[in-house]
Amino acid sequence: MAAEGVPRVAVCPGSYDPVTNGHIDIITRAANIFDKVVVGVANKPVRKEKTLFTGEERREFIKEATTGLENVEVEVFSSLLVEFARDQGASAIVKGLRAISDFEYEFEMNQLNKKLAPDLESVYIIASPNYSFLSSTGVKEMATFGGDVSDLVPGPVSEALSGRLER
Ligand code: ADP
Repeated sequence: MAAEGVPRVAVCPGSYDPVTNGHIDIITRAANIFDKVVVGVANKPVRKEKTLFTGEERREFIKEATTGLENVEVEVFSSLLVEFARDQGASAIVKGLRAISDFEYEFEMNQLNKKLAPDLESVYIIASPNYSFLSSTGVKEMATFGGDVSDLVPGPVSEALSGRLER
């Protein structure tokens, strides 16, 4: 149990290249549970090659989309996730789960993180049905071919995508 008066902090890590309404949904729901949520924008994700947007751009998009959430902060990090979480004083890592494919990866990451930081708990929020099909990769692909993504991402992201990707 957390000591009385000590705020419960969670980190929401991801590459957010770019942030989607599905991410915002998870961040909002986490902010309803924890005293403070620090969104961690991974600057050197192990799994992905070059990102479309820089770390700072990705951070700005999330900051803009979460201005209404007073207990949410956004930081770029390039260290180990458990170290970032520790630096932020977090007791939990919050992740969104869409499908079985997410589960497999998260299951593995969970075991690794638990080994590195046994005191840090990982918490999983199931994607809302509206967003369970939504991924940053899918959005980028749609935008590349001129598809309308305005329902899927925050306004500034939609604009930036069409500026950068449309052929
Ligand atoms: P990753 O580097 O793990 O791919 P992402 O930026 O894609 O990171 O996503 C960050 C987190 O948000 C992950 O936990 C991912 O499962 C979750 N997530 C991504 N898209 C959605 C969505 N549409 N609904 C719920 N959770 C999502």
